[in-house]
Amino acid sequence: MISVAEALDHLFALADPLPVETVDLRAAAGRVLAQDVFATRTQPPFDASSMDGYALKSVEADLHAQFKVVGEAAAGHGWDGTLGAGQTVRIFTGAPVPAGADRVVIQENVTRTGDLITITDDSDTKSNIRPAGIDFFEGTDMSAPRRLYPGDVALLASMNVARVPVAKRPVVALISTGDELVMPGEDPAPDQIMASNTFGLAAKLDALGAEARILPIARDNVASLRTVLGLARGADLVVTIGGASVGDHDLVAGVSAEMGMDQSFYKVAMRPGKPLMAGRLNGTPMVGLPGNPVSAMVCGTVFLAPMLRAMMGLPATPAPQVRRTLSAPLGANGPRAHYMRAIVQGDSVADAGAQDSSLLSVLACANALIVRPPHDPARATGEVVDVILLDNS
Ligand code: AMP
Ligand code: MG
Repeated sequence: MISVAEALDHLFALADPLPVETVDLRAAAGRVLAQDVFATRTQPPFDASSMDGYALKSVEADLHAQFKVVGEAAAGHGWDGTLGAGQTVRIFTGAPVPAGADRVVIQENVTRTGDLITITDDSDTKSNIRPAGIDFFEGTDMSAPRRLYPGDVALLASMNVARVPVAKRPVVALISTGDELVMPGEDPAPDQIMASNTFGLAAKLDALGAEARILPIARDNVASLRTVLGLARGADLVVTIGGASVGDHDLVAGVSAEMGMDQSFYKVAMRPGKPLMAGRLNGTPMVGLPGNPVSAMVCGTVFLAPMLRAMMGLPATPAPQVRRTLSAPLGANGPRAHYMRAIVQGDSVADAGAQDSSLLSVLACANALIVRPPHDPARATGEVVDVILLDNS
């Protein structure tokens, strides 16, 4: 049995980088930028007014000073002239500041009669001008790799980057195995249950930027498993769920070995999730997850998410951990790392109750996993522990 860290290293070794594709900006959110991109313009491209008011020369902007209004500059409609002494231009937010002006006096601080304005308040000493390039200059880069969040998409738009090089979305084939499973919406026999893992994992992987494909359920016989594994051809990652132990009906290791699987490891010192395996099946990375629903989801967080991030070109690092203070004590841990379903509230964390790996109702109300190292001693209220925050927090 290997440690979680060793298993992750094996998975990163299997995580082949995905090719780059170019997508429209509108489709770039959530994707991973794969190559540096550069601003094709300066923003703002001109000195721009940040207020509605009057553009003038700051040396003339004394209290009670008067100016003649000689033109108007609005957003998208610059004023082409050059301001002379004693002159002003009516200006609006986003308009280019005319040549000869270096200050915008806000409209609240002047009175206007016909073409004449008078400064009635000189308490605002700001220029109210955004200099050209204050946001970024032509040639400024956004460097890869980088997950593109909505703010990044806005910045790319402003940089006039309309087509964005991103890592291809990893196609992940998800295969449930078991004679007892039926799809949600179908009619289970009395001895059957619903296939839940593929749906939970598909949701998790899609949210990470993958394209999860739920394949037909493989039954607990060699022919069925072979057929469904065959359907996974073309995927960037194959994930099987269940059938990974050594029971009479656990066929994944045997069948995949027969089909040419080059196994990297089998069994990790953790709970839930011990019977995890991984390797390469005809060149494609394959991960065999345990069938218990919570085990599968925890392995999704601890193993699949970091692996997929690495495939998309992001750094090969474990699931991020934060530190939280226990609001309830924890018993001593055994020889395997334990990922305990837990509830974080502010700076505190407490375990979420029963930790049996079949309890999705507990997982669904948890928003975190407390990470217990092997042989971690009992922990008292007030001690600080490592925590992985789940996406539903
Ligand atoms: P296995 O690893 O196949 O022995 O499965 C362990 C437990 O997880 C059994 O109780 C299975 O019924 C259950 N299980 C396996 N696969 C799934 C699945 N896709 N959805 C829900 N439960 C599953
Ligand atoms: Mg099974």
